[in-house]
Amino acid sequence: MWTQGFFYFLKKSKNPVVENKMENNFLIDTHCHLDMSQFDQDRPEVIERAKEAEVKYILTVGSGLESSRAAVSLARSHENIYAAVGVHPHDAKDFDDDAYKTLLALANEKKTVAIGETGLDYHYMHSPKDVQIEVFKKHIELARETGLPLIIHSREAEIDTLRVLAEAAGREEIRGVLHCFSGDMEMAKELIRMGFYISFAGPVTFKSKKSAALAEVAASVPDDHILVETDAPYLAPEPFRGKRNEPAYVRHTAEHIAQLRGITLSDLARITSVNGLRLFGIGEVPGEGVIAYPIRDSLYLNVTNRCTNNCCFCVRMKGDFVKGHMLKLVNEPSAMDLEGAIGDPKKYSEIVFCGYGEPLMRFGVVKEVAKWVKENGGRVRINTNGQGNLVNGRDILPELAGLVDSFSISLDAQDEETYERLCKPFHKQAFKALLDFISESVKYVPDVQVTVVETDGVDVEACRSLARRLGVEKTLRVRKLDVVG
Ligand code: SF4
Ligand SMILES: [Zn+2]
Repeated sequence: MWTQGFFYFLKKSKNPVVENKMENNFLIDTHCHLDMSQFDQDRPEVIERAKEAEVKYILTVGSGLESSRAAVSLARSHENIYAAVGVHPHDAKDFDDDAYKTLLALANEKKTVAIGETGLDYHYMHSPKDVQIEVFKKHIELARETGLPLIIHSREAEIDTLRVLAEAAGREEIRGVLHCFSGDMEMAKELIRMGFYISFAGPVTFKSKKSAALAEVAASVPDDHILVETDAPYLAPEPFRGKRNEPAYVRHTAEHIAQLRGITLSDLARITSVNGLRLFGIGEVPGEGVIAYPIRDSLYLNVTNRCTNNCCFCVRMKGDFVKGHMLKLVNEPSAMDLEGAIGDPKKYSEIVFCGYGEPLMRFGVVKEVAKWVKENGGRVRINTNGQGNLVNGRDILPELAGLVDSFSISLDAQDEETYERLCKPFHKQAFKALLDFISESVKYVPDVQVTVVETDGVDVEACRSLARRLGVEKTLRVRKLDVVG
């Protein structure tokens, strides 16, 4: 059961555990200017401190031709550093055909992974607007020619930035990131719709009214569109505000955003580093699905990718990653595989049968592993679409008595017609079977919750009273799906 609603459930959980360990995860500072003179005295120490802070990769971004050359040379001499090449909008007035050729040559260097920074800056207006727009378009052309993503700067130029990107995106696919995002929710939505990533820097940690609005955006950007950065030497996050910034401090920004999103630093590191690896083609992106994966203090089991529904809001439609975990299975795991992956169930607050699909399609395995978890002192939750009896051709609930502590069942609609439209079940009578399953489950499972995705045509209050009539008190209202994206 993988709906966006599920994420809401995580966010609203009572005891958000915000820890400071990153386990096997790491951060990427996707935007800094290591070539700048502010680092001349201690560049090697700065790079070392980043490693100590578990910032595995640094993307140093060119702001002009000289700076782009320096970025490329830093990338050449450090395994963990990559380069972006471009001319900052401030200096757009100096851009000419030769500059284009120089950038093209630098872009073809092995460790150049992006074009930028480019974009529009109407705050200082060091170059005229029309020139900035022209040069921005030249960088987009360069990105197309090289196949690299764009790193975009936009300050007080939201409308023109979106217009230029939308025009370009209308012709051909372009990829990239809006760095040091300072826009509003509307702008974030628009960028996400166009497939761009949104990167947050130090200002999201500041204590001001503007930062509070920014924090709201940082809390809402979908997992598969968020990145973090420092923009060092500028914009140091709290508690270093006003001082020189450096890549190690991306950890403070990441910690703050993790808190805003109600997840651990480790979760945020995984989510953002997978995005960084994918966007910039750095390192190895996981290619095979994991069968057990931690989110906060719970362990999730990826039992199957199959499902009896084809919900229009299913996260499976959006890609193979959930919270930075690759979940596309090559083979479905056996009970033994799952038990091996769990290790000690007592280490987690609960073991959740979830799957990037419907776990009760593999009832035998779920039952066996749930029994083993209980025998070994763990707690069991099953997230399901409530069609377990339908797909197994019998009432499976009595068999789960004593094995399952909680159920999270997706109701998702107040009536059959809405359910058919949104969830596109493969089986006839699926909605009726779901209602029966809910009302029966309260007899066998101590804690039953019903979830609802609030999307077009769903009457949350009607769902709530329907759930009550079925004997479930604890209903869950789920956020609107298109908050962003
Ligand atoms: S298609 Fe299946 S896994 Fe996806 S949201 Fe619907 S019920 Fe859940
Ligand atoms: Zn910058």
